[in-house]
Amino acid sequence: MNRLNGKYRLLSVFIVVAWIFLELVFLSIAFDAQNNYLNAHFSVEKIEEVWLKFYGVSALFTLLTLLLLGYVRIVSKKVLGYENLTYSLEDKLKSQGQKLELALEASGLGYWCWNINTGKHEVDTRWLTMLGLHVEDILHTEKDWLERIHPNDREEIISIIENAMQKQIPYVIEFRMLHFDGHYVWIQGSGSVTKVDKNGKPVELSGTHQDITKRKELEEIHIKNSLYLETLFEQNPNIIIVTDGVKLVRANGAFFKFFDSYVNLDTFLQDHSCICDFFEAAKFGNTITNEDGKWLESVFKTEEPLVKILRLGEKHYFAVYAKKIYDDASTHTMVTFSDITETYKLRHKFEMLSILDALTNAYNRRHFNMLFPQELNRAKRAGLSFCFAILDVDNFKLYNDTYGHDQGDVVLHAIAETLMQGMQRSNEFFFRLGGEEFGVLFSGYSEATSLEYAQNICKKITDLAIEHRENEPYGCVSVSVGICYVEAPSKAGIKEIYSKADKALYTAKESGRNRALLDALF
Ligand code: GH3
Ligand code: MG
Ligand code: MG
Repeated sequence: MNRLNGKYRLLSVFIVVAWIFLELVFLSIAFDAQNNYLNAHFSVEKIEEVWLKFYGVSALFTLLTLLLLGYVRIVSKKVLGYENLTYSLEDKLKSQGQKLELALEASGLGYWCWNINTGKHEVDTRWLTMLGLHVEDILHTEKDWLERIHPNDREEIISIIENAMQKQIPYVIEFRMLHFDGHYVWIQGSGSVTKVDKNGKPVELSGTHQDITKRKELEEIHIKNSLYLETLFEQNPNIIIVTDGVKLVRANGAFFKFFDSYVNLDTFLQDHSCICDFFEAAKFGNTITNEDGKWLESVFKTEEPLVKILRLGEKHYFAVYAKKIYDDASTHTMVTFSDITETYKLRHKFEMLSILDALTNAYNRRHFNMLFPQELNRAKRAGLSFCFAILDVDNFKLYNDTYGHDQGDVVLHAIAETLMQGMQRSNEFFFRLGGEEFGVLFSGYSEATSLEYAQNICKKITDLAIEHRENEPYGCVSVSVGICYVEAPSKAGIKEIYSKADKALYTAKESGRNRALLDALF
């Protein structure tokens, strides 16, 4: 622009210089003429005429010069305006080209352009680098390009490009191309028709290539992992469910195998919203039920939670594990129910064995030591009376001596069985305290009823009518009972209660056996 300004300025200067030069020439001609006239003794009028002519010519020439300068200025402005426009368009295109180039580079895009008529396929360096190629490695033809595409992808890409040309719409496709090293590179190719002939027929197609191998590899890993997880979920022998906290959202194959009357989640959900509908309380372990409607919360709070489910009259026990799954929109919980029915039954059996006496099936001394304080406290809390009865088989040494030890065992078993059968209430407990001595704990009876209860024990045993010739004067097996009735359990200690009952038993023995005696604590 400055260069052009200078050009027109130079022209103007040249015009002005020419004007000065011509003015000087005219002036010298005028002086010459004057001198000539003076030498020839011309009149003053003649000389004035010469100068008048000079002024006239000079004024005309000056006017012409000014007009010329004006014209130059106008022309220069017009030309400059056009040149400026040309230059700004050129600059713009140049900067846009640079920008495009930068954008392609930054996004790792390779550029290609295919002339449909000539079949020439031009590509840029990034396109080549993606495939480990140099410009001399390719033929720049459509055929060469097509041959580098994975055979399994060729058909699809051809049909997509044909469709894009026919409908003149852009396309994006993922396919594999052969790398110079021999492996395949995943490419995301996009393209569109960029030139058409005068009939609207596409003549040029161009677009970009992007290497998406890394993304594809991650996608493949993700797909594989999802498949593994899905298999793990579906094929897991444990029942696995996903819940939103209230409703069942998903359930695996083991779930439908267990609840086999339901073929899928929809049919299950028609009858139940939650697996917790099937929960029941179990005797042992940290059983979770849905009594408070918050079974899931209690699973998280409880150590080693357990669930009992009754199905077709059969008891099933499950260990429950729960894990929260967070995603963007919601929180779900995955809950696993591991079937431990066999283990539970065994555990139950062992627990029973550890608290039962092997000969009589009554609770053993160990369990007595645990339950005595527990039951006393329970009565205390409930404000109930409490009773402890201790009973001892009369003249049992003589029985063994007469009928043999084995028969003695049979008698002990019969006594325990008889007395346990009569125990209906949940707060009555029968123990074998050792040898031929048994204990009973119960609560909530009056003093009189408690004595009656103990007397009834004696009666039940004599009613068995087991012959015991040496047990004079009864002639049959009998027991003596000492009972301690505690009116206010909060004031009594275990030792004191035990000793009162023991003393009462001693007195019962002393006073003739086969009887019950009561001592009370208030
Ligand atoms: P008392 O009426 O004063 O209680 O007389 P007793 O003979 O029953 O009392 P003692 O304490 O002298 O004898 C208890 C007997 O119980 C001695 C023992 O042989 C017998 N005995 C203890 N445990 C068992 C057992 O498990 N099986 C059998 N068969 N006998 C037992
Ligand atoms: Mg005894
Ligand atoms: Mg005895």
